[in-house]
Amino acid sequence: MKRTLLALGTTLIGAIAFAQNNTTVIEQAIAKDNDKFVAIFKDLHQNPELGFHETRTAGIAAKELKSYGYTVTEHIGKTGIAAVMKNGNGPIVMYRADMDANAVKETTNLPYKSTKVVELADATTPVGHMCGHDAHVTWLLATAKFFAEHKDLWKGTVIFIGQPAEELIEGARAMTEDGLYTKYGIPEPDYLLGMHTAPIAVGMVIAGSGVRNAGTDQFDVTFYGIGGHGSTPNLTKDPVVMAAAAIMQYQAIVSRAIDPKHAAVITVGSVQAGIDNNVIPASALLKVNLRWFNEKDRKTMIEGIKRINDGIAYAYNMDKDKYPTIKFKGWSYPLVNDEQLTNTVRSALKPVIKNDKLLLDETMIPSSMGSEDFHHLVFDNTKKAAYCFINVGVAEPKRFEEAIKKGAVPFVNHNGNFEVDLSAIPFGSKVGITSLLAVFNRAK
Ligand SMILES: [Zn+2]
Ligand SMILES: [Zn+2]
Repeated sequence: MKRTLLALGTTLIGAIAFAQNNTTVIEQAIAKDNDKFVAIFKDLHQNPELGFHETRTAGIAAKELKSYGYTVTEHIGKTGIAAVMKNGNGPIVMYRADMDANAVKETTNLPYKSTKVVELADATTPVGHMCGHDAHVTWLLATAKFFAEHKDLWKGTVIFIGQPAEELIEGARAMTEDGLYTKYGIPEPDYLLGMHTAPIAVGMVIAGSGVRNAGTDQFDVTFYGIGGHGSTPNLTKDPVVMAAAAIMQYQAIVSRAIDPKHAAVITVGSVQAGIDNNVIPASALLKVNLRWFNEKDRKTMIEGIKRINDGIAYAYNMDKDKYPTIKFKGWSYPLVNDEQLTNTVRSALKPVIKNDKLLLDETMIPSSMGSEDFHHLVFDNTKKAAYCFINVGVAEPKRFEEAIKKGAVPFVNHNGNFEVDLSAIPFGSKVGITSLLAVFNRAK
């Protein structure tokens, strides 16, 4: 018994020493390359690209990864990349960063702020990295460089994924459907790790187990009518009025048809119809977003929306062939972090985060209605991969502290004022490297 305890004690001391040594090695490597990665981050920030248009971003990432010694495959699911490095026998671990920006105008005063504007099929829009995916790509590159330069610290196969179009909730599936594991021969991972920015202070990390994010659907509803002159609505069938009625009725699905103890959201994020004051258009488009935690609620919302659409078309006496249509786009299941894997990551991060209070878990930060398609990289695999998705603080700590005193955070993702403090670049890299090393070494 005593011998066992002694052996256990020696092992623990060994493990702690190993962790501390690693932390020093990681910190030195990050300090050495800090200027390089801050420059990459600023460049990505100034040159944001929307989902499935991340050609410049993917090109920069691919070039860097090749220079570190990775075998890189490009143009997977349009703009995705996969970088693989084999280093002996061990687990296959995938680390993913999303690369796309948002159709949002940046309102920060940063010298490297985005001023980009792009033409879309139906609109002209400013583009900015208002969700921090520029930081995600930078953290991935810093982590990949460390892994290539410190092969003595891990054994197995590491795969870095630069994923397109997370904001559309389409990019992960685009990569797997394009043949990530088949046509391109990327090995199916045992573990999948990912990180996302959060508007909390640099130095804080959220690593919660279990359900973390809601499932989501994105789809477009089109109401058809008969257009005409604004002065003679009686000679038309007004799709604007039909769409307006639908928007209000959709909300009654959540309030009346979903179990009040369940969380669910229906948001109409865009209403597009007509151009002129005095013209009744021929159609009206609604861009709808759902959030849910179970299939039953998902079905209730989708079927409810269909019935409301048809009911309105009936009420306005539309011909059957002019009933509203639905075009389904991106979707994802709720994100559920593996408990054991998350514990591994959390334990490894303790020495990095210094103050335990800054390492938040599911008891402090419960699941959110936010959504991710990260886990869809492995969802349909034959080998069930355990996955863990964590959130890393990116707000300048003093700014965060002052905002919290007023009961708020300094900014939120997707607002034009979202701002990744430059100290978050080395901090996030440290979190990424430490977490990924822990995932490799847990299997020993
Ligand atoms: Zn986002
Ligand atoms: Zn995001």
